[in-house]
Amino acid sequence: MSDTIFAPATAAGRAAVAVVRLSGPQSARAVAALAGKTPRPREAALRTLRASDGEPIDQALVLWFEGPASYTGEDCAEFHVHGGPAVVARVIEALSSLGLRLAEPGEFTRRAFENGKLDLAQAEGVADLIEAETEAQRRQALDQLGGALGQAQARWRDHLIEALAMFEAAVDFPDEEVPADVAARARPVLRALIEELEDALADAHRGERVREGFRIALVGAPNAGKSTLLNALARREAAIVTSTPGTTRDVIEVPMRFAGYKALLADTAGLRDTHDEIEAEGVRRARAWADEADLRLWVVDGSSDAAPTTPGLHPHDLCLINKADLEQGAETGHALVEARALGVEVVRLSAWKPDDVAALENALERRVVDALAGAELPTATRLRHRELLTEALERLGRALVLEDELELAAEDVRLAGRALDRITGRIDPEDVLDRVFSSFCIGK
Ligand code: GDP
Repeated sequence: MSDTIFAPATAAGRAAVAVVRLSGPQSARAVAALAGKTPRPREAALRTLRASDGEPIDQALVLWFEGPASYTGEDCAEFHVHGGPAVVARVIEALSSLGLRLAEPGEFTRRAFENGKLDLAQAEGVADLIEAETEAQRRQALDQLGGALGQAQARWRDHLIEALAMFEAAVDFPDEEVPADVAARARPVLRALIEELEDALADAHRGERVREGFRIALVGAPNAGKSTLLNALARREAAIVTSTPGTTRDVIEVPMRFAGYKALLADTAGLRDTHDEIEAEGVRRARAWADEADLRLWVVDGSSDAAPTTPGLHPHDLCLINKADLEQGAETGHALVEARALGVEVVRLSAWKPDDVAALENALERRVVDALAGAELPTATRLRHRELLTEALERLGRALVLEDELELAAEDVRLAGRALDRITGRIDPEDVLDRVFSSFCIGK
């Protein structure tokens, strides 16, 4: 039997109301000790909370949820007290003195998962909803909390079982009344499933970007104006701007918002060869960040005569020829040639001109929306989901090519099913569960 846990469910600091919640078999005893008679389930009761010596702590609303009809599936209670830190501290002290234990991060939701109230993907949805800062993050998290991924997984599982049954029939009853082509009939079922999983996988990247932010890297030679552009876009002094090349020595990430989507804009250390060890490390990190970014803004000093650096652009990147307020240098021509060869769109601007920066902002917003907005919300939203989908796809791909080895094919289909089951945590080992729940805040 589990012990009884408690934690403040609201953030620390001063507020009108703070909520302390508890879950576990001792909840009723704790409510009785602090608030007297247990209130009727799911009805708010105004009570004076008292310490063990009878001294009043606060006037509170007390809520009682009798298990299994509660968030965790256990007996639960909530004390809605006045949100002063001293009140919360006193309630916590009183609960501790009754032998209850402060909850670990995510422990309430973990209990809900273990008691079958939520699947693992829904539990992740809870964590994401708490973290959500943008509209897109909120919508996606709510969809996941609603069980969208679990429903997709159940559908995939049905197809899988259908295919597996055919394989197994062919293996177990080779000479009997099973039609000879039963294994061949499994093939279109597998193909359809593979197609669905591939769609989900393609969308998973979008889901991850909605969660974590669309990554935009400013790349280009030192002194091109990257930090100036970053500050102009972020409307604050996030990066140090100087006229000494090599000033930005690390990757500076600034969270931004475009049309309800989160983006991360990063100024990267100027891409140049250097003997300074610290700067070289900065350049290495900058390259890694830029390589993984969803969009690179190649900033070129349009007034310079230097040969432009080529920072590994993709056709959908943007080339920004900066310092358009100055006389044009030879670098502009070189950059234009290079950008055209790569099929990269070119924008001329001055980081100092608010109108130019606003136009760039619009262009970035269009890019973010094009990349992240879809008709449907992505079902897979995390690296964990993507890895499991990839594993299932590999297994199913193998099963398809194992023409004559039905038993091996059946085993691959079975293992694909196991990978899909792990999305909702049906058979996940403890360490995976630990990782998922430790990302929660205390009190959830
Ligand atoms: P970074 O090394 O690429 O980050 O370049 P910085 O943002 O530090 O800019 C280098 C220098 O160019 C600074 O002195 C900036 O003030 C200047 N600069 C940046 N943008 C412009 C621009 O549009 N026009 C002009 N004339 N100077 C600029």
